[in-house]
Amino acid sequence: MAAPTTKAFRVDSLLRERASLVIPGGMWGHQRAEAVPAGFPQFFSGGDGARVCDVDGNSYIDFMCSWGPVILGHRHPAVEDAVRRRLDSGDCLNGPSEAAVELAELMVRQFAHADWAMFQKNGSDATTACVTIARAGTGRRKILVARGAYHGAVPWCSPSMVGVTSEDRAHILEFEFNDIDSLDKAVETAGADLAGILVSAFRHDLGIKQEMPSVAFAHAVRAHCDRVGAALILDDVRAALRLHLAGSWETYNVRPDLCAYSKAIANGYPLAAVTGSDAFRSAASDVFVTGSFWYTSAPMAAACATIEEVNRIDAPGLLNAMGTRLRAGLAAQASAYGFEIFQSGPPAMPLLQFANDPNAELGERFCLESLRNGVYLHHRHNMFLSTAHTAAVIDEALDATDRAFRTLAHKGMSNDGTCLRRAV
Ligand code: PMP
Repeated sequence: MAAPTTKAFRVDSLLRERASLVIPGGMWGHQRAEAVPAGFPQFFSGGDGARVCDVDGNSYIDFMCSWGPVILGHRHPAVEDAVRRRLDSGDCLNGPSEAAVELAELMVRQFAHADWAMFQKNGSDATTACVTIARAGTGRRKILVARGAYHGAVPWCSPSMVGVTSEDRAHILEFEFNDIDSLDKAVETAGADLAGILVSAFRHDLGIKQEMPSVAFAHAVRAHCDRVGAALILDDVRAALRLHLAGSWETYNVRPDLCAYSKAIANGYPLAAVTGSDAFRSAASDVFVTGSFWYTSAPMAAACATIEEVNRIDAPGLLNAMGTRLRAGLAAQASAYGFEIFQSGPPAMPLLQFANDPNAELGERFCLESLRNGVYLHHRHNMFLSTAHTAAVIDEALDATDRAFRTLAHKGMSNDGTCLRRAV
């Protein structure tokens, strides 16, 4: 699939028009029509390895990877084979197939803290199940979360209060990520009612610089939970399998009691999971968490194949190396064209921001120019690499971003916002 030089969005525009009549807001959630920047396609027709194709036939090197799920590249053969085999025998049956047990065994072996596993569909299902199990296991109510962290789109944690009541959040308390003083204060406020501390693998809130946890912070979270008998819940929905194969906080030598996964565990097939330690096994068997589609087999077969493959090829090592190559290339280009940029977060899940660009307008222009040159980037959400991003693919993407930086510079744009406005 060669990168086209001009982008036509004829089919996309027609679909948007039809969608606006029958889908509120044209689309929902993070894909709602108004959230897709002008000049970006909304509808896609296919994916292959490191590339996605929109409905108008334009192909892009894909650095969103379906917003995280695609870790081995689109339509990875081993995963597709495993899914096809399950589909041939039946996916949605009266109960789970043996894939559920195989996958639970695999996850217990894979993740250092895990003594058991159970499965859901979406990350929100998994974080909600963790909160429910923490409350059941401790007999307490308060859950501490970092201010601004995303844990899903259900009332207790949705980033929007539209349609949500304050009662839905009654037992949610906030602290600042990486700020031990504010964590201490929130723990004190929760007092004897502290059921759990829910924390992301790293700070990846929308539109702000990403931050890895400090070792001291990760240990402080663990120490508080140990002292008061609360659950340390790691939300590894976004980062799992991209940073460390045994769990994202293994690097810090901190293990959670409960951990939520989704996104990459099944290379794009709908699956989420919760793993836990023995201390929460009986609570996990007492709570009623379920769904009509939580037992389907094909996504579980996909997860078994995905986990086997990420181990075989050391996915975190590859992603880190290729993310570092991308980052170095972007840094060199930015400085050559006179732009000041920040790159934050782990190289496997990079975020690129421009200095003096509080509303990410320059970032959006850069992504738009990159898109025109055949590379799909994001200016506010962290991006994702897959293991299909080989050195050759990264270099091809860098050729395109070089052209994008050059165009911005030629149009007179700079980190000074006034230039941006003149150039629009
Ligand atoms: N937690 C984190 C850290 C996430 O990134 C997400 C999804 N972006 C979720 C929870 C919710 O997952 P889902 O969208 O699958 O419900």
